[in-house]
Amino acid sequence: MRTVYVNGEFLPEDQARISIFDRGFLFADGVYEVTSVLGGKLVDFPGHAARLTRSLDALDMRSPVPEEDLLAIHRDLIARNGIEDGLVYLQVTRGAADRDFLYPPDDTPPTLVLFTQAKPGLADNPLARTGMSVITIPDRRWGRRDIKTVQLLYPSMGKMMARAEGADDAWMVEDGHVTEGTSNNAYIVKDGTIVTRQLGEEILHGITRRAVLGFAREAQMRVEERPFTVEEARAADEAFITSASSFVTPVVRIDGTAVGDGTPGPVAARLREIYMEESRKAAI
Ligand code: PMP
Repeated sequence: MRTVYVNGEFLPEDQARISIFDRGFLFADGVYEVTSVLGGKLVDFPGHAARLTRSLDALDMRSPVPEEDLLAIHRDLIARNGIEDGLVYLQVTRGAADRDFLYPPDDTPPTLVLFTQAKPGLADNPLARTGMSVITIPDRRWGRRDIKTVQLLYPSMGKMMARAEGADDAWMVEDGHVTEGTSNNAYIVKDGTIVTRQLGEEILHGITRRAVLGFAREAQMRVEERPFTVEEARAADEAFITSASSFVTPVVRIDGTAVGDGTPGPVAARLREIYMEESRKAAI
């Protein structure tokens, strides 16, 4: 049985409890982070910790513990659960208070929950070799997608829509342009140039995105941060996604149309290689 962390305590997962009045449960008034673990170490922990602070600030939510303590809690949980390859999920909510749309008083203690997921072979997902298929769906999420909130119902519906069509995931589209995948950032490659939507309120500021674009620029690859259309994506030479748990994964079909020759392309393969190597090196 897993050991999980709830509000200062490490407990067996079946003994962990939070209130039915928790605002995360009643209002999706919570934010989260997912950090990958490779070889027992955290990938880009500082990036995830910085984004957590940004999400909390955007919602005027208190941090439950000082940032220094977060790393220790993550490491403790990895050790207690013997995680080699997997994920650490962290969620902070505004805490438990009588149900009211107004935020509760400032002294309401926030809720902090962390748990691990063991994912043996996380770095060797077969989709990295074969490539994945995506469908396109309208982006029906709220307008502040840059805040990493736990309102994941539409992305969850999107994954089910993809599954119903025999695809691996869905790319969301707004005003004819791709915003991002249900749980990842989206990219195309045309004539050697990597194109991905610019940062803004329309997409999550992926921690993997930042690292991968940095490596791409260091390797003298051309990068354009701008919106791209579904038509451009279908006509691209390559497509791929990035996220903390999928790293860099090629996309080989969009709405049933093969991207390029329908096999993973060299740019995605190279970026994955660099990203895996550098992340393992820098993991803490
Ligand atoms: N966009 C969305 C909507 C996501 O849910 C995620 C994964 N949390 C990402 C992008 C990728 O972000 P990261 O690289 O930080 O995992």
